[in-house]
Amino acid sequence: MKAVAVFPASKQLSIVDHEQPSLASPTQARLRMLEVGICGTDREICRFDYGIPPAGQGHLIIGHESLGEVVEVGGGVSRVKKGDLVVTMVRRPCPHANCIACRAGRQDFCYTGDFTERGINGAHGFMTEFVVDDEQYMNVVPPALREIGVLVEPLTIAEKALIQLRQILQRLPWAQVAKQNAVVLGAGPVGLLGAMALAVAGFETYVYSRSSQPLAPLVESFGAKYIPAETNTIEQMGQQVGSVDVIYEATGASRLSFEASRVLGVNGVFIFTGVPGRKAPIEVDTDLIMRDMVLKNQIVYGTVNAGRDAFEAAIRDLGVFHSRWPEAVKSLITGRYPMSQFQELLLGAPAGIKNVIQLG
Ligand code: BGC
Repeated sequence: MKAVAVFPASKQLSIVDHEQPSLASPTQARLRMLEVGICGTDREICRFDYGIPPAGQGHLIIGHESLGEVVEVGGGVSRVKKGDLVVTMVRRPCPHANCIACRAGRQDFCYTGDFTERGINGAHGFMTEFVVDDEQYMNVVPPALREIGVLVEPLTIAEKALIQLRQILQRLPWAQVAKQNAVVLGAGPVGLLGAMALAVAGFETYVYSRSSQPLAPLVESFGAKYIPAETNTIEQMGQQVGSVDVIYEATGASRLSFEASRVLGVNGVFIFTGVPGRKAPIEVDTDLIMRDMVLKNQIVYGTVNAGRDAFEAAIRDLGVFHSRWPEAVKSLITGRYPMSQFQELLLGAPAGIKNVIQLG
């Protein structure tokens, strides 16, 4: 079968002919891959900044945002059945007995860093024709979401952030989510899906971003407000929002993020989801940041990967987006392309919002 793979040692990206996987345990299922989304992580792997092949192999099959169809199940499988649409989770647990997160099935909080991630780190990914995995990592997606199911994985980033945000907001039992303002930094897929999830959760939602395309109509179509960064400084953005209760960062740009933290309000929460590439150090006013954090009871947290709870929340929310704003959510997928166009898609200038490789 064909697969898109990177060879880090020789710095090559190519289509390889790979052996078809077959079931190796009764709790595994085999999937025919339908679609795989492309994200910034894939592009970094293709620039050889990131990405590790499985132990003992020279290549890594990439792709971690997937939608597949179950074509074969082992005798012990009960969560999925033939014909189901599924999205497979990305991270697999580390082997260490003392990693209480991995041992509890929460490898998204792994303590040791020795986890693997399919398509990213130490395990082959999904940009291929068939995939085998244990059913415990599979999440069934309703057939009505066939067209947008590939957005589940990028949405899990926001869902994991939101699960934690709800826990944090319990410290303010008098505050109502409906009156809280959330600012999303960045209008890529993680930003826009995050903005939709915040809007569904009841936040008054703003998206602050630079963009080469007019995004205000899209953002307004799901009840959020768009504030263009080209014509509004951080301070002007803060004034328009009023009390900035939550900032959800989805840019990977550290300078912008720390600058934006200046307008975070009293009892505010700042959530980082982006992974900046290592560049030269930047100057930030650490006294100001620390003073604000203490004197305004602020909380800052980072969040990566996602557990089953976030996958289930993402599938539920995608259903809500689909019924409330079908056009908006569909428009997040800019284009669908055959595998043969992998070079332009992975190495060319990023175009549009989310590009998808169609496999089945
Ligand atoms: C993926 C996560 C992964 C992270 C770090 C992201 O693009 O969505 O599942 O944990 O990269 O490798």
